[in-house]
Amino acid sequence: MSGFLAGKKILVMGVANNRSIAWGCAQAMEKQGAKIIYTYQNERLKKFISKLVTDEDCLIECDVASDESIGQAFGLIQSRFGKIDGIVHAIAFAEKEELGGSILNSTRAGFSQPVDISAYSFLAAAKAGIKILNNPASLVTLTYMGSERALPNYNTMGIAKAALESEMRYLARDLGEKGVRVNAISAGAMRTLAVSGIQGHASLLKISKSKTVDGVNVTQEEVGNTCAFLMSDLASGITGDVIFVDKGVHLR
Ligand code: NAD
Repeated sequence: MSGFLAGKKILVMGVANNRSIAWGCAQAMEKQGAKIIYTYQNERLKKFISKLVTDEDCLIECDVASDESIGQAFGLIQSRFGKIDGIVHAIAFAEKEELGGSILNSTRAGFSQPVDISAYSFLAAAKAGIKILNNPASLVTLTYMGSERALPNYNTMGIAKAALESEMRYLARDLGEKGVRVNAISAGAMRTLAVSGIQGHASLLKISKSKTVDGVNVTQEEVGNTCAFLMSDLASGITGDVIFVDKGVHLR
């Protein structure tokens, strides 16, 4: 297989279906010659990913809410594939009640969950992954500009994304000596399962489109291509960064 990721094995966490950003990343990296290993959240979601990925060996369950599940998943990855060259983390979750109206409606439990699932899980994956990552390797997570702006309804997810971006920088600092680069892609709004949990998501998508520089929304493929680049040795000078792939929405 040729391409700038030829010979690399990359773990992709977060494919729920063919609209998932993680799927766009996997497709783009496969095009560049990478072998892709997938984790899925649970049996229910396995049904969907099984339609996209036929090699059962490449499908591994991992519920990031559980350290045990993470440990088992990385154990299986090591036994089946040995060392890997990168991890794409495209995971987020908050209860619907947390994604609408005033931030004052947030509860202690409702606040903690998105920080745990959407931010801590990246650190947990890095901790579990470090034993099986090659030198060099690359970690990429997915974020959104709601981390730095008080966008309507994004609420606790915005706070979780701010934590995730900060965590990404600390990871980049501490994993650099091991040859592991760590970055985040701040993607433009896209219609996915996760987005449908946000109150008024239809207008979020519409506004986002109107704020692109050319009136055309960013695609899964464009985000995927950036992910492929960040995973590759072509990006060896980039670590600790948030790369916007949103067709300029963040400019306005
Ligand atoms: P998606 O629903 O396709 O993906 C979210 C994934 O998170 C799903 O695969 C789901 O199974 C997984 N997940 C949730 N809880 C989990 C758990 N406990 N254990 C394991 N996996 C769990 O939606 P998406 O939009 O592709 O989201 C991927 C990432 O991209 C998220 O971090 C999201 O915040 C980010 N992002 C999305 C947009 C957008 O507009 N869609 C924009 C910027 C960033």
